Amino acid sequence: DDDVMLGAWSERHTGPMSADFTSYDEATVRKLDRQHVFHSWSAQDLIDPMPIARAEGSHFWDYDGKRYLDFSSQLVNLNIGHQHPKVVKAIQEQAGRLATVAPGFANDARGEAARLIAEVAPGDLDTVFFTNGGAEANENAVRMARLHTGRPKVLAAYRSYHGSTAGAITLTGEPRRWPSEPAQPGVVHFWGPYLYRSAFHAETEEQECERALAHLRDMVTVEGPHTIAAIILEPVVGTNGILVPPDGYLQGVRDLCDEHGIVLIADEVMSGFGRCGEWFAVDAWDVVPDLITFAKGVNSGYVPLGGVIISPAVRDSFGERAYPGGLTYSGHPLACASAVAAITAMREEQVLEHAAALGQDVIGPGLRELAEKHPSIGEVRGLGAFWAIELVRDRETREPLVPFNAGGADAAPMTEFAAACRERGLWPFVHFNRTHVVPPCTTREEELREGLAILDEALGVADRYA
Ligand code: PLP
Repeated sequence: DDDVMLGAWSERHTGPMSADFTSYDEATVRKLDRQHVFHSWSAQDLIDPMPIARAEGSHFWDYDGKRYLDFSSQLVNLNIGHQHPKVVKAIQEQAGRLATVAPGFANDARGEAARLIAEVAPGDLDTVFFTNGGAEANENAVRMARLHTGRPKVLAAYRSYHGSTAGAITLTGEPRRWPSEPAQPGVVHFWGPYLYRSAFHAETEEQECERALAHLRDMVTVEGPHTIAAIILEPVVGTNGILVPPDGYLQGVRDLCDEHGIVLIADEVMSGFGRCGEWFAVDAWDVVPDLITFAKGVNSGYVPLGGVIISPAVRDSFGERAYPGGLTYSGHPLACASAVAAITAMREEQVLEHAAALGQDVIGPGLRELAEKHPSIGEVRGLGAFWAIELVRDRETREPLVPFNAGGADAAPMTEFAAACRERGLWPFVHFNRTHVVPPCTTREEELREGLAILDEALGVADRYA
């Protein structure tokens, strides 16, 4: 009887599709966008964003059939590349089976996604609270830390990005916070390590590590350890420059947190799920946080998904009670089914090992070779498929190629450099005076070498200002 009922339901709703997008041309797409879409700050060209017609693997195409090598991974998101057939199929199958379910039900795709995420998480972290993206993950991690400790404050780093919702933008330590000031109370910022522009006048990695830790310890002391619920940081800082911490730094922060009962939150929204050639960036230093926030690479963003991976100690403080917070789409079956497919494919295709090798054998050496040739390159840094080139006017003074937070005419050297990349079929990720090299972790070596050759040509434009 149930089958008859379902058949009748399908029959009542057959007929033509609501929109056949294959018939939309470039002009239509541009017009719809311009008239009806209010873009976020991530639009590369706010006036007239380029329509993308299709994508596959490490490439996407515009409506003229021009191909771009995606060195941005669409906001450092597509760890598994565009249109991975197994992930696409998992979404299609899940949609055919059960397209949505409220968070208050148990669900196979959600349970399996949580199990797999716990399996790849470091240490004893074994429970997952699902969100729709990175900002919400950080909001909820902070709430968990506050409820767990009963303390009000959070320490967050300058040169960080944690998302654009009210709490997450308050945690953020860079100009994207400015339009949201005065932000929420209870967040205090500290300086993390960044030897190339050291806040501590350090000259070696060891000094930078030692001084950054001493600074953080001082901050904890003067803020009052008993008032601090959490320290949140990006283990490898993403949008603010791919800042790889010196050995010992993350362990030092871990020790400081242990000393004072402070929850350590690692924001791995950008650095996690293979980007650094490990499941999580903290794995490169064997440090286990209390909470890990994730999004992006967990399913390469095919369906919005993020979350918090939680230690038993934090989880247990909620006892048998449910978490006091929730989201209608928490653990959405389409998102969870795509995460199961993405994580499984990453394992089967050894994507982590591939990303690590790309960093070590191709991107790192390739960028260092470019640095020998181009006077505009001040520093090259990164790991896995997570790299940045910092461009300068003067290698001695390290004056950035464009001023901090430059826009308009002031940003011309970077805008021209980016245009030179795009003309040659490379889509770069440009932020202030840096270009980040963040292709899909699945990019093939020959594709990468093609991209590096284009960077080589485009850097000629930056050299003219150096
Ligand atoms: N945290 C980090 C480190 C990020 O890089 C981002 C986004 O780029 C976020 C949080 C915010 O994630 P979302 O845009 O999914 O809210």
